Amino acid sequence: MENIILSVKNLQITNTKTNEVLIDDVSLNLEKGKILGLIGQSGSGKTILAQSLINWVNPPLKITSGKINYNGFEILNLKKNEISKLVGREISFIGNNPVGSFDPTLPVGVQILEKLLAVKPEISKREAKEIILKTFESVKFPSTRKIFDEFPFQFSGGMMQRAIIVDSLISNPKIMIADNITQSLDVTIAAQILRLLNELQLKFDTSIIFISSLLGTVSKIANNIAIMDKGKIIENRITSDLLKDPKENYTINLLGEVPKVWKEKPILTTRNIENDNILEVNNISKIYKVSERKFFSYKKIQAVKEVSFTIKRFENFGIIGESGCGKSTLSRLLSNLESPDEGWIKFNNKKISGLKNKEILETRKKFQLLLQDPYGCIPNHKSIFNIVSEPLIIHGEKNKNIINQKVKKVIEEVGLNFDITGSLPSGLSAGQRQRVNIARALILEPELLILDETLSSLDQVEQAKLLKLFQDLQNRYEITYVFISHDLTMVRKVCNRIAVMYLGRIVELAENETLYNNCEHPYTRTLLCSIPTLDENPYDSEKYLMEGEPPDPSDVPIGCSFSSRCPFPTDDCKNGNCDMELIKISEGHWVDKCCVKCG
Ligand code: SF4
Repeated sequence: MENIILSVKNLQITNTKTNEVLIDDVSLNLEKGKILGLIGQSGSGKTILAQSLINWVNPPLKITSGKINYNGFEILNLKKNEISKLVGREISFIGNNPVGSFDPTLPVGVQILEKLLAVKPEISKREAKEIILKTFESVKFPSTRKIFDEFPFQFSGGMMQRAIIVDSLISNPKIMIADNITQSLDVTIAAQILRLLNELQLKFDTSIIFISSLLGTVSKIANNIAIMDKGKIIENRITSDLLKDPKENYTINLLGEVPKVWKEKPILTTRNIENDNILEVNNISKIYKVSERKFFSYKKIQAVKEVSFTIKRFENFGIIGESGCGKSTLSRLLSNLESPDEGWIKFNNKKISGLKNKEILETRKKFQLLLQDPYGCIPNHKSIFNIVSEPLIIHGEKNKNIINQKVKKVIEEVGLNFDITGSLPSGLSAGQRQRVNIARALILEPELLILDETLSSLDQVEQAKLLKLFQDLQNRYEITYVFISHDLTMVRKVCNRIAVMYLGRIVELAENETLYNNCEHPYTRTLLCSIPTLDENPYDSEKYLMEGEPPDPSDVPIGCSFSSRCPFPTDDCKNGNCDMELIKISEGHWVDKCCVKCG
């Protein structure tokens, strides 16, 4: 067919060590100038399939049968040097690790320039630089000449993803394969990247294969969607048809699992919220001094500023915002890993800042912090038993029988088998590791669990399982949760009240229903309009989704801190003629005074 630029026929990939078939009789077509979404959970085979499209299959994996045709070329029959000519020139591949994509020792612009000159030796260096600067403009870099000379470490996650898109578009490829490129980004930046890809696809007429585990995200961009499970394509249809009338049970279930942010009611806490405050946070601030390149010179970063809130016992409290908004500093202050410069925090009516070592140890037993990275947060060289029992031993438990019983109890509580406790964690999946991490926190029977992006690196199915586990545990262990996250869909599902942070401050705080249906601050609307959901989003992204990222926290704008990104700033907002303090606008609903009735 003339309009097909890439076709895969009956592809099979086998692990030659185990004889396991990883890609099983897969056939699909990519149409010219169209976007094909490839959806699957972790382990479904989508990345192996994507890499095989450029014959990037390494032993023990082997393509055991099938054909891949690109524009008349049989990819699997091409020699290595012929493939190398195609990849980068006609087919570009963007992986899901933006950090490793550029050499850290060279400016990004210089690296893209080298690539362009290698692909088009007929153009001069000056012409090549002009082409790159123009492409920088297409991806909406604010200051193209400055960006050209910057090193990879100077780029934020969103900027780096744009630079990689420039790198892959610079040779004007016919096909772009984008593997999970929005997974690690904040919702606002991910929404910007999706909008950008749509614009670029039209401008450059590139055909795109967009791979993700999130159906909501893919449905925003793809003309067709192919669903993968266990190495097979389950269903492959036009996006609107697939969403309206899924044929296969797997797709029906998958659609059912995609959270409907506005249609579905949140699940919230499984216990009655009590009247006493388990945590009180009063006007806390934290400033870091960061040294600059010049000797004896440093700049101040206001990581947390004048933050106050209270959390009731058994309430699920959410804190949301983009990367760099101060959420992680706040989580360290709440868990008493650091002390605020100003203000105080009370846990069970007792101030936790300024406690002596023994008191700190005693209080820490009662509240635990669970971090995001399931690989970094548990050591690989210790047995699972030792990892889970360690907090008990640190807190003075010596009786081996008690330790054994407690480890068995928590391991089974988190849905793992006690038999695994003798092994090292290296063979565990991300979800299983996070369960070990939860078991380690539970063994001290905490009253408060602070979950700092704990579910962010897990796929949708695993997230749903762990949320169910958290609910069960809340009942059995009488736990209060603080969910700190950039995932607004997850927070909507489980939190009773939610605080929105921007540049170190809380700018809005409200009950779940109020925040998602009747928020007041333009920044909250920006966050909400970016959620990739399948139900109707009441916040129009045309109106609220802005370009750019939060400013450098060492250089916060005067006046309203949101003024550099706000779609509706007035001169007063920019000149500092506005009151930046939370005021109550209705029962339980607090907003920055200057941002009431903005936009
Ligand atoms: S005060 Fe001004 S800049 Fe801040 S949110 Fe309102 S309109 Fe935007």
